[in-house]
Amino acid sequence: MQLEKFLTAAEAIVGSENVSREPTSGAPEGLDGSVAYGDPFPLSRPHRPGPAVRPDTVEQVRELVRAANRFEVPMWTVSRGKNLGYGGSAPVVDRNVILDLHRMNKIIEINEEYAYAIVEPGVTFIQLYEEIKKRKLNLWISVPAIGWGSVVGNTLERGIGYTQDAAHYKHQCGMEVVLPDGDLLRTGMGVVEDSKVWPLYSGGFGPGLDGLFFQSNYGIVTKMGIQFSPAPEAYTRILVEVPEEQDLAPLVGTMTDLMRRRIVANPPQLYGRMTLIIGAARRDPEIAKILGEHGNFARHIPHDLISKVSSILGLPAWCAGFALYGPPEAQAGLLEAVKRRFKQVKGAKVTHETFNAVPGEYLRSEDVTQDFLPQSGVPSIDHVLAFSSKEDGLWHNCYSPVLPPSGRELYEWYVRAKKITEDHDLNFLADFHVFDRYIISINLIMFHPSAKARLHDVQHALMEDSKKLGYLEYRTHISFMDATAAHQTFNNGAFGRFTTMLKDTIDPNGILSPGKQGIWNSTAKLERLGLEEK
Ligand SMILES: Cc1cc2nc3c(=O)[nH]c(=O)nc-3n(C[C@H](O)[C@H](O)[C@H](O)COP(=O)(O)OP(=O)(O)OC[C@H]3O[C@@H](n4cnc5c(N)ncnc54)[C@H](O)[C@@H]3O)c2cc1C
Repeated sequence: MQLEKFLTAAEAIVGSENVSREPTSGAPEGLDGSVAYGDPFPLSRPHRPGPAVRPDTVEQVRELVRAANRFEVPMWTVSRGKNLGYGGSAPVVDRNVILDLHRMNKIIEINEEYAYAIVEPGVTFIQLYEEIKKRKLNLWISVPAIGWGSVVGNTLERGIGYTQDAAHYKHQCGMEVVLPDGDLLRTGMGVVEDSKVWPLYSGGFGPGLDGLFFQSNYGIVTKMGIQFSPAPEAYTRILVEVPEEQDLAPLVGTMTDLMRRRIVANPPQLYGRMTLIIGAARRDPEIAKILGEHGNFARHIPHDLISKVSSILGLPAWCAGFALYGPPEAQAGLLEAVKRRFKQVKGAKVTHETFNAVPGEYLRSEDVTQDFLPQSGVPSIDHVLAFSSKEDGLWHNCYSPVLPPSGRELYEWYVRAKKITEDHDLNFLADFHVFDRYIISINLIMFHPSAKARLHDVQHALMEDSKKLGYLEYRTHISFMDATAAHQTFNNGAFGRFTTMLKDTIDPNGILSPGKQGIWNSTAKLERLGLEEK
């Protein structure tokens, strides 16, 4: 590896002001106002960022890739690097160069009639939303809980929003990709010069290649088509609360059935008492006082304390938030159907609020008062404000397996995963994204930095337990990519053999994001054997 020669070449390509020889500056502003690269919540294994390079055109990306090949310098790609809970902008391999695409922030097109946009990797959800608002377009986009991330980066990670288009990867349509040899590829109908249906029809002619570039290290995505929804005429937000922990199963079973029947179109977001208590402690000093030293998440909060706060505040065990979108006439009927179904769930309390557009017009996202989570597609950074990367801050790390949708499996897993988490003196925070046929079941482990040594153990214990149940994560932190990939066991690891073969074939020098999702060149894989902690 000839790093110095690569950096000199990079300076000639992007300008010296867009090369950070030290990773302490140059990243888009993040937690605590920091512009440093890296993981704001680093665990014990070293994943320090190396120097960073910031192209702003596709041609510059291609030139950087050619230089990386020439000097055998691997680069870790990020769009905005706000992958908090999963590693931020830090690489799997300690000191890898960061290829930061945040300067490529052009919105190439927004099409109101067909409800899609084509964006570059640096475009944030907030930027896209503000542009739609500025142009007064009748569109509602889907955004994650924190809006400062990249539409492209989040979608490539199979990130999740809260509107009808919440499964972002399912709404991606067409990509432009710089390949590991510097070639430039378009997928889907983008194979045709000036295609008119590139962002409309995702199929293409021949094999679908888009999937190869999700959660992978096979290319650098430089443009993406993303589809969303026309603004509705009316919007009804619904909250269902149930009193007991074991009510989780009927609550989820009912919700996923409503989704499969297309009565509810956005994925209900499900959270429990702990989330409500954290919110209450931030607002109410009395509650913070009752939590006392436990409020800093250095240790597991005792059950009797949780019960005490819950009974003071009258908290339900679970809350599920979702919405209805569409014409006012349909909303009234759908709402009745939802209420009728939840009458069958013991103790369920349903509350709702409807917003109607002026007749003859469509509702604007901003005309809906903010939801707890952005079901109307208004991005914010409110949910990140509780966190700080400082040594006395609140950190977090996600464990995110995919489960079946009946609710029974979720409850079974929840009880086990909660026990494992608490046995490690940590707290289980439920962040369940309920889809029609699966549940992304996130254990949002929040912790005081003094507890970080326990994170590896708890993650590995959770992984082992999920393995027994036959579940795998949808996404994981950079520290656990190899361990998670090792659970792809079908046919003695056929998936891993195939991804390695592909990597060796298209990226023989291993210059793109080594180790991403446990994908390595065969030589690097051998070198790493023995480096894994468990
Ligand atoms: C409090 C909190 C709430 C959160 N809520 C949500 C939520 O609701 N939904 C959700 O999905 N996430 C959520 N997250 C996780 C995370 O913050 C978001 O997913 C965020 O959007 C990811 O960062 P990013 O968009 O900047 O992507 P990046 O960090 O830029 O990219 C993520 C990864 O994708 C790959 N990648 C990125 N760009 C490219 C490219 N151009 N070509 C090839 N590969 C690329 C890289 O491997 C990179 O590491 C939350 C985090 C926190 C702390």
